[in-house]
Amino acid sequence: MVSQLGQFQSPDRMPCLRCGVCCAKWQPLLDEEEVAMVARGLGIPLDVFYRDHTERYPVKANAYVFRRTGKACRYLRYQNVIAACAIHPFRPEACRNWTPDLSRRECREGLRLPAQLGISEAELPRWYELLAAPDQGILGMGKT
Ligand code: SF4
Ligand code: SF4
Repeated sequence: MVSQLGQFQSPDRMPCLRCGVCCAKWQPLLDEEEVAMVARGLGIPLDVFYRDHTERYPVKANAYVFRRTGKACRYLRYQNVIAACAIHPFRPEACRNWTPDLSRRECREGLRLPAQLGISEAELPRWYELLAAPDQGILGMGKT
């Protein structure tokens, strides 16, 4: 508890809805250390990883982004409709620092997901329980 003293906690902080909207809309910026960390985590040789999985970020030196596949981050996966990160244990810092928060447009968009899926109000507690279950991510990895 003492360690939390003085730390900023947004009043709009919310549980992650595992909607995946943030990973579909944004690309984390990577430095060379992070590129190496993800390549190592995936067991891919660094030169191959640079060539096939990343591209240079044009407006900053020594910065990279993941090559996108389709309209989202290449590591975004869905198990049924629940989003998960396929590189969760070694995801980039930008992803680690992203917190679900009602002040974010992406998370508010995620709030609409149950209604879009036809989940009734009565079913919502079960739905949120399911999202919180640790084994719902790809390989048991949580989204955030
Ligand atoms: S959390 Fe994972 S899926 Fe989402 S943007 Fe980061 S690396 Fe991609
Ligand atoms: S952080 Fe927000 S936008 Fe991203 S998956 Fe969680 S609820 Fe959705």
